[in-house]
Amino acid sequence: MHHKEELSLRKFLNRFPTEESCEEYLFQQKWPDGFICPKCGCREFYHIKGRKLYQCKHCRHQSSVTANTVMHRTHKPLTTWFQAIYFVASDKRGISACTLAGKLDISYETAWYMLVRIRKAMDHRESQYMLAGIVELDDSYFGAKIKGKRGRAAGNQSVIVCVSKDSKDRPQFLKMTVVPNVQRSTVEQFVDAAIEKGTTVQTDSYRSYIKPLRKGYNHESADFDPNSEHLKWLHTIIGNAKAFLKGTYHGTSTKYLQSYLSEFCYRFNRRSFHGQIFDRLVLAVSSCN
Ligand SMILES: [Zn+2]
Repeated sequence: MHHKEELSLRKFLNRFPTEESCEEYLFQQKWPDGFICPKCGCREFYHIKGRKLYQCKHCRHQSSVTANTVMHRTHKPLTTWFQAIYFVASDKRGISACTLAGKLDISYETAWYMLVRIRKAMDHRESQYMLAGIVELDDSYFGAKIKGKRGRAAGNQSVIVCVSKDSKDRPQFLKMTVVPNVQRSTVEQFVDAAIEKGTTVQTDSYRSYIKPLRKGYNHESADFDPNSEHLKWLHTIIGNAKAFLKGTYHGTSTKYLQSYLSEFCYRFNRRSFHGQIFDRLVLAVSSCN
């Protein structure tokens, strides 16, 4: 995979010192080969400065690099958005609203809102691909245990977790989805949306998995054994995800659990991209409304 050095704070600030430099960057992302009017295809435009608008010289249609995106609606400068994304991208453990507010000298509410939207963009990206090849699948629970219950009914929030592996048995892509329960129909829905047909799926011998994986998949199941290699990646990753949530977000309410899990997956799935995460995340945020 592509290795690139980390984007240092100094380099970042040199790249994006002004509102115009951020706008120019978004323009390049949107029209890498120069402006093209989305209505008529004309390549000539007037730039309406200050409003981040580009008006077609032929049909007068107005385009924008931030319209319909969260960056536009908040009325916060692009420089603030870029800085927030920079800090999210460069802190592997995630950043809390409180820390971000302090770094950017903005209110806690603004920092919180920006992080919610950045996570939404991550979640949107994560929902766009399916796993294939050889996949480990299991369910786990997050949050407080329900008193008196054990095993699969013990937690307040069920999560289906699966990870695909490469030919050397190393983990590749991860998906974590909050589900209302782990009944057969729920598992079936998840599997249809998340795992390509023809995939080899490894699970424990829980009965909810049997029917959903019978058709179209190569299902390998084994009884849980803590000493076996079976599902070893999944159990490591689930442990890391729990530590991530606890460390940065001090546990979390059910309402936001999916977005934190998506952030964890987003980071995991781009763990070897290093310095590119900032650019990818700006693109994700500027194309997600
Ligand atoms: Zn036009």
